[in-house]
Amino acid sequence: MSKKPPVAKKEEPPATAAATAPAAAAEEAAPAPAKKAEKGKRVKKHKEEKGVHAMYRIEGDKVFRERPTCERCGPGYFMADHHDRYTCGHCGFTRYKQK
Ligand SMILES: [Zn+2]
Repeated sequence: MSKKPPVAKKEEPPATAAATAPAAAAEEAAPAPAKKAEKGKRVKKHKEEKGVHAMYRIEGDKVFRERPTCERCGPGYFMADHHDRYTCGHCGFTRYKQK
């Protein structure tokens, strides 16, 4: 049990990882100073805008709709996803989520 070959082997991968890490770190560090320079002005953290593409998910050849559609308005009218319910912004229809 005095020999520890696995430990010696384990120390090799970090060496190669360290070689690639600085390059990745440099790429990540580049945008940071730009952000700091803008900090003087009031930078609003603006929400990631969701287009209609956010309502769909494609898996292979099939399209999945991420939100239910309104029963009153029909397909094309997605319902807003609230924590306990879905609502239609078009007609106001509300459907409560079943637990
Ligand atoms: Zn509706």
